[in-house]
Amino acid sequence: MRVKRHPTRYLGEEYRRLVKENLHWELKVLETASGPTCVVDGREVIMLCANNYLNLATHPKVVNAMIEATRKYGAGAGSDRSIAGNMKVHEELDKRLARFKRAPASLTYQTGFMTNEGLIPQLCGRGDLFVSDELNHGSIIDGIRLSHADRAIFKHKDVADLDRIMEEAERHDPPYNHIWIITDGVFSMDGDLAPLPEIAKIAEEHGAGVYVDDAHGEGVLGECGRGIVNHFKLTRDQVHVEMGTFSKAFGVIGGHISGSEDLIKFAYNKSRTWLLSGAVPPGVAAACIAALDVMESEPERVKRVWENRNYFLEGLQDLGFDTGNSETPIVPVMCGRSKVARDLADYIWRKGIFALPIVYPMVARDKARIRTQLCSDHTKEQLDRALEAFKEGGRKLGLI
Ligand SMILES: *Cc1c(COP(=O)(O)O)cnc(C)c1O
Repeated sequence: MRVKRHPTRYLGEEYRRLVKENLHWELKVLETASGPTCVVDGREVIMLCANNYLNLATHPKVVNAMIEATRKYGAGAGSDRSIAGNMKVHEELDKRLARFKRAPASLTYQTGFMTNEGLIPQLCGRGDLFVSDELNHGSIIDGIRLSHADRAIFKHKDVADLDRIMEEAERHDPPYNHIWIITDGVFSMDGDLAPLPEIAKIAEEHGAGVYVDDAHGEGVLGECGRGIVNHFKLTRDQVHVEMGTFSKAFGVIGGHISGSEDLIKFAYNKSRTWLLSGAVPPGVAAACIAALDVMESEPERVKRVWENRNYFLEGLQDLGFDTGNSETPIVPVMCGRSKVARDLADYIWRKGIFALPIVYPMVARDKARIRTQLCSDHTKEQLDRALEAFKEGGRKLGLI
């Protein structure tokens, strides 16, 4: 008997299930530029959940570069970079980024997500192995899923577990051809750092490649915010792919990788997202170049974001909050149950503080939190206001 099928009814049903279980996104609307303070849904708030760590999204040099390049070269590139959209400004950005990263070569993609989704599945296939931290970003998980390689997941930052998996991998029959270890540099939910030197050491013992996604480390770690490879003083023989994004500290949009000349040539010949999707507009590429220039000419921004982070973290700890494992300007305020995190976020929102509750299934059921992210241009007065709101809300909810 034929099934009586409805083509789309399940879409609404699924959405209503998400609402019922409180798993849906309610989108807030920014009415001003992203900065230390914004107008969101008609309310003036202190922004504590943007990735705009160095406040470059509105930097005059970055904005002007975008406008000028757009006037000169148009709103769009007209094609994929692989065909007819590879403008001089894209090539300049690749070179400028390699200089910034102190790498032999770099390649820019349209977004960080497209970088991971395009490159990772090309690195390993049948007979190969991916070894991945359990808390890696969704774009890494999806990239690995797109490949035919075996995969092994090691416990978060657990070098002993990684070692065990690698020893086991050596006994695989037939032997694996290629092995890649992939990790976030800074983990976005806790703001903690990958043990990259230890990972690189284990990889070296096994002839494995190392791929680090430094989306939240760039602009924050290393000299002038060059990122995690510079921070740990590792070489390109130890970390083979340093991946990142222009959408966070750099304040624009676009993904990228840095490494050997061979890596870059391999990457743009193989990554389907790079080959089969449009180039970023010339204005975007020019704005990214300007952002890199600002990073090197205004290193005090990096200093300020750390000062703000230390001030805010110590303030929270003095109030008695648990700030989890933060090692960067991502500072979680641990709340336990999802409801407590949601109620605290609502409370501070009404006091003019915008920070996001991170709840199950994004984190474990008993590890709900409010994630705060500091910006170089938050003032002490703004941070004090945020601390005051957390204090009142935390007391009301019995957290402190
Ligand atoms: C944000 C993020 C990405 C995606 O970068 P986009 O350029 O915004 O697509 C990838 N990996 C990590 C770890 C991220 O935090």
